[in-house]
Amino acid sequence: MSDRYSSRRSDNQPHPRTTSSNRGSHPRAGHQVSESRFSRSQIEPDYPQRSYQQRAPQPQRRRRKRGSRDSRTSVFIGVLIIAAIVGGGIWFWLNRTVNVNVNGSSTEVRVNATLADVLQASGFTPQPGDLISVGGNVLEEGAGATFSASVNGQELDEDQLNDFRAKGSERIEFGDGADVTEPSHEEERETQPKMEPYERVGAITYVAQWPKVGKGVYTVGDVSGESVLKEETQPVQNLVIASINPQPEDGSKVIAITFDDGPSSYTQRYLDILDKYGIKATFFCLGPAAEANPELIQAIKNQGSQIASHTKSHGDPLSTLDADTLRSEISDAFASIEGAGGGATTVIRPPYGDFNNDTWLKSNGTLSASVIWNLDSEDWTLPGADAIVSNCTNGAYSGAIILMHDGGGNRDQDLEALPKIIENLQGQGYKFVTINELMAMDSNIPEDVASGNATMPEDCVWPTEMVESE
Ligand SMILES: [Zn+2]
Repeated sequence: MSDRYSSRRSDNQPHPRTTSSNRGSHPRAGHQVSESRFSRSQIEPDYPQRSYQQRAPQPQRRRRKRGSRDSRTSVFIGVLIIAAIVGGGIWFWLNRTVNVNVNGSSTEVRVNATLADVLQASGFTPQPGDLISVGGNVLEEGAGATFSASVNGQELDEDQLNDFRAKGSERIEFGDGADVTEPSHEEERETQPKMEPYERVGAITYVAQWPKVGKGVYTVGDVSGESVLKEETQPVQNLVIASINPQPEDGSKVIAITFDDGPSSYTQRYLDILDKYGIKATFFCLGPAAEANPELIQAIKNQGSQIASHTKSHGDPLSTLDADTLRSEISDAFASIEGAGGGATTVIRPPYGDFNNDTWLKSNGTLSASVIWNLDSEDWTLPGADAIVSNCTNGAYSGAIILMHDGGGNRDQDLEALPKIIENLQGQGYKFVTINELMAMDSNIPEDVASGNATMPEDCVWPTEMVESE
C-alpha cells in the first residue's frame, strides 16, 4: 500500500530525492550512488550521467556479474565446509568413546555401546547360566543367560540388560549368567486316585473314603516334556479302606451273632429261637440259596435280623479269583438277595474270611464292607453243643462278632447250642445287635457304610493302583 502510494507520488510530482532513490536502486556500487547525490543539484535532468552509466564499459559489468557468481560459489563451498565440519562433529560426537568402570577397571567403549559390547571390551568372561527344565533339571549347560549385570549398584532385569546403552562413567559389575527355564505351556490334567492299603487289625474292613479324581493345572516343559503341578483345582481323593473292631461309643455292652451259608432248612428254627429271646442276628446268605428260598429271606427280614451276602459260589477263596469273577461273585449275590426280597446290601462275609488289599483293589467298588469274626464257634467241625457254647462265650467282649452257620451241613449242634449261648451272654449283660447296628455304634465307620447298603458315589472312580508303601 505504501509502495503503491510512493510510486504514484513519484509519477505526479517528480522529486529529486525520489529520482535519486530510483537511481540508487540501479545495480551500482555504493560510492557511485554517493557521487550522484553530490551532482544531483547541479545536473538536472541527469541525462548525461545516465547515458554515461548506460555506456559503462562492458568488462566492469561483466566483472561485477562474475563477482556475484563467485560469491555464491564461495558461500556454497562455505556452507559445504560448515556442513562437513558440523556433520563430522556430530559423527564424531555420536561415535565418540567414553569410559565406563567394569568390575573395578576403567574400560573404553564406544558411546551407546551395549552391555555385550562392554563385556567384550572388558575381556571379562562370566560363566553362562544353564537351560533348566520346568522340573528343575539341567537340560543344557551354558544355554542360559550369558551374563548378569548391575549398573551403578542396581541389578538389571532382562529388559534392562537389553536396553542398556553406555553414556560414560557408569559403574558396571558383570556377574555369571542366570539359569533360564525352558519354554512351557499349561495343561489341565486329571490325577487318578489310588488305594491306600490297610492293615488288618479288626473284623470289619470298610470304605472309609471313596476315591475321587483330582484335577489341576500343570506346567509342561516344551523341551523336556516334564510336568509340574501349578495349581490344584480339585484335590485327588484316594480310596481309603480301614480295618476296625467297632466299639460302642455309648459304653453299652453289645455282641453280634452271625450265621453263614444259609438260608437252609434250618434257618426258620434259628429265627424261632431269636424270636423267643427277642433278639436279632445277621444272616450272611449265599446268592443261589437266597434265590431258592425267598420265603426264608423274607422271614429273616420280617424277624428284624439283617441280611447280608456270603457271595455266590463259595468256591475258591475270593483273593484267588480274577477281577471279573470276583466282581460277579459279589454283585450277583447282592442282586439275588435283593431279588429274593432281602433288600439292598453291599456288606459281605467273604468265604473263609479271605479278603485282602488286593481283593479290595480288584473289587471295583462292588462292596462297602467286608465282615469276618472275633469268636469262631467252629460249629462246622461238629465239636458238640457244649464246645460250641464255650467257643462263643469264653472271651466274649463288647463289640465282638460271633461266627456260626445256618447252612452247609447238619446244624443240630447249633440249634442245641444257640439258646445256651444267648442265655449265657444275656446273663453277662450283653445286648444282641446286627452288624449294621454295631457299625453305627462306632463313628469311625461312615454313616453310609453303617447303613449296610452304601454304593460308590457317581463322581467317584475306583482306583486300579495301590499307593506304593515307602
Ligand atoms: Zn461259608
